[in-house]
Amino acid sequence: MEPQQRSPLLEVRGNVELKRPLVKAPSRLPLPGTRFKRRPDQMEDALEPEKKRTRGLDTVTKMATSHPRAPALTARPQMQGQTTAPKVPKKTGPRCSTAIATVLKNQKPGPAVPAQKPAAAAPPLLGGKKPTKRPAWDLKGQLCDLNAQLQCFRERTQTLNQENQQLQDQLQEAQQQARALGAECRTLEGELARVQAQAEQSQQELGNLRAHVLELEEQLGTQEGLVQELQKERLGLQEERRGLATRLEEQERRLQASEAALSGSQAEVASLRQEAAAQAAALVEQGERLHGLEMERRRLHNQLQELKGNIRVFCRVRPVLAGEPTPSPGFLLFPSGPGGPSDPPTRLSVSRSDDRRGTLSGAPAPTTRHDFSFDRVFPPGSGQDQVFEEIAMLVQSALDGYPVCIFAYGQTGSGKTFTMEGGPGGDPQVEGLIPRALRHLFSVAQELGGQGWTYSFVASYVEIYNETVRDLLATGTRKGQGGECEIRRAGPGSEELTVTNARYVPVSCEKEVEALLHVARQNRAVARTSQNERSSRSHSVFQLQISGEHAGRGLQCGAPLSLVDLAGSERLDPGLALGPGERERLRETQAINSSLSTLGLVIMALSNKESHVPYRNSKLTYLLQNSLGGSAKMLMFVNISPLEENVSESLNSLRFASKVNQCVIGTAQANRK
Ligand code: ADP
Ligand code: MG
Repeated sequence: MEPQQRSPLLEVRGNVELKRPLVKAPSRLPLPGTRFKRRPDQMEDALEPEKKRTRGLDTVTKMATSHPRAPALTARPQMQGQTTAPKVPKKTGPRCSTAIATVLKNQKPGPAVPAQKPAAAAPPLLGGKKPTKRPAWDLKGQLCDLNAQLQCFRERTQTLNQENQQLQDQLQEAQQQARALGAECRTLEGELARVQAQAEQSQQELGNLRAHVLELEEQLGTQEGLVQELQKERLGLQEERRGLATRLEEQERRLQASEAALSGSQAEVASLRQEAAAQAAALVEQGERLHGLEMERRRLHNQLQELKGNIRVFCRVRPVLAGEPTPSPGFLLFPSGPGGPSDPPTRLSVSRSDDRRGTLSGAPAPTTRHDFSFDRVFPPGSGQDQVFEEIAMLVQSALDGYPVCIFAYGQTGSGKTFTMEGGPGGDPQVEGLIPRALRHLFSVAQELGGQGWTYSFVASYVEIYNETVRDLLATGTRKGQGGECEIRRAGPGSEELTVTNARYVPVSCEKEVEALLHVARQNRAVARTSQNERSSRSHSVFQLQISGEHAGRGLQCGAPLSLVDLAGSERLDPGLALGPGERERLRETQAINSSLSTLGLVIMALSNKESHVPYRNSKLTYLLQNSLGGSAKMLMFVNISPLEENVSESLNSLRFASKVNQCVIGTAQANRK
């Protein structure tokens, strides 16, 4: 806003300025403006010249002859009306008469004063002749003149009195007028003062207003700057708003799409939930069914194992090793079963030539054929996996709560340790039954975990040499020469047996089992240095205590799995001289034979269901009693050397195994009846 546009403020000033002329405007007074400022009391003085003038009439009168003056106030209108009064003829009357006439002429224009007639005594002035001066002697004439003059003065006095009276009246009128004017003047002065005060106030207000205007202008400037800033900001915001509106639209579109997708997803989720609920119900049902099936499987599995025989015998013939003499053809035969070559072999024929009879007759030595039949026969080419396949189901029975015991029986070097622990070098292909069985158990236990079963496994490994028990898992200072262990019941009245001073190691994976087997091998190696070939003269017993629990159903099962590498079953050659070493060997052999025959007797007693089972007759049977009796399942590997030179021991082993096998058959048959 420009300053020149602010007209209202200027108008205020203009109004104030305009008032001044109003105040100074000529009043109704007939007096000159200069006298306006006089106070009412000065009004008298204002009239003073008039008075003086009036008073001065006398003087004028007195001096009329010398200086005729302008007429008094009353004469003014006449003088204004006519600038040139008619002059009295100079020749008429005396000089003084002339003066008086002049005065009279000037003062008496109207009819109020009639034309003065010269007194009779007065010398005639008419005729244009100047009165002649009376001679001194003409006293009468002089008196006449004086009378005339007196008469004239009297008239003149009367006129003057009238005039004075008129002037008095005028004066009074003027005084009244002056008073009125004084009052008016006071009123006006009051008004003026008020107006001045008002003007001052207005000035002050104006000043205030100016200051306010300045302030407002300043504010305006600030506000204008602010407005400009705000406008800029507004523009920016508008721009931003447009951007936001665009984004909003985009977001709304996305939201709509998302909502559509969400509603679709919600419907999908609802249907999936229904499906999940249905599946959960089905799962529960299937869980129930599965559990029922699992229990049925266990029952059938056990039944199958029982049908196969609670005591089974497998014969395994190891291959001929490098450097060993090749046996004559037909020495060992593996005849096919009734189902032909596709049937797994169960029979073994050993042909033994009777050298003595042949020598005597000179004819080729006749051969005697010995036929054996077992649950399964593994020819030399059979791999570790094939062997394990046959016993996997049996091992699994341990998880179902049936004690399982697997023996390897045979002369030294027939392959017992190879069968149980595996071949040298850690080759997975030649892994023995112990690592394979444990891996299988861990795997099946994990599967059963899905059905709510949890299993734990604790391993121990001991050897029984000369009827003493030693810990094969001993480490540190006890390594290889650990103190004797005792077989004790776990607690009073407990059926469970435990070996004192032996390590019981929880295992959950095959690596841990490998580590244990490694420790056992080291312990045997240390022992071998002090006592020759002790390992083959002792029984190695690997035991795994299995504990299973189904928390959801409150079920528990537990059974020991025992894998026993028996001592060499070979007999002492009776023809050998009995030196000190041989005597020791004899004692070892007697101990071994005693324990092996006790094992046979125990098996017999169990299969015959005798009331007394001689477990206590050897440390081995005593330690294994929980793995042999009751519902326990037993498997005996009879390991056979393929060499002809070992034929005697082989036949011995085969006969022992056959006895065991017969026991089994007898039991199996009895079950079938
Ligand atoms: P044992 O423990 O009965 O004394 P070993 O298990 O020590 O007999 O076996 C003697 C030798 O024969 C070992 O060198 C072993 O590797 C080897 N052997 C045993 N059985 C087999 C087999 N089935 N295949 C290959 N080699 C075998
Ligand atoms: Mg061995």
